[in-house]
Amino acid sequence: MRALTLRTIGDLFRLGALLLAACRSCGHSARFHPGDMIAFLGAGRRLDALPLVCSRCGSRDVAVTADRDSLLKDRHRPAKPKDI
Ligand SMILES: [Zn+2]
Repeated sequence: MRALTLRTIGDLFRLGALLLAACRSCGHSARFHPGDMIAFLGAGRRLDALPLVCSRCGSRDVAVTADRDSLLKDRHRPAKPKDI
């Protein structure tokens, strides 16, 4: 697989990938559709500057990556993901 540049929500959106947010404190994870996040935060928002808070433990130490499963599924549009 070629190297992917993933710095902003807009980058994820162009790839058709979901945002995978994983709490470093308790391990809780959730997926977000980048289109939803663009509506609130703008496409230029950096992935390392998202205002995410874990709904299970309240930690703000949340790791954000592209969801590999959604990258592999060619342009698959999953159901709207639930909040973390
Ligand atoms: Zn947590």
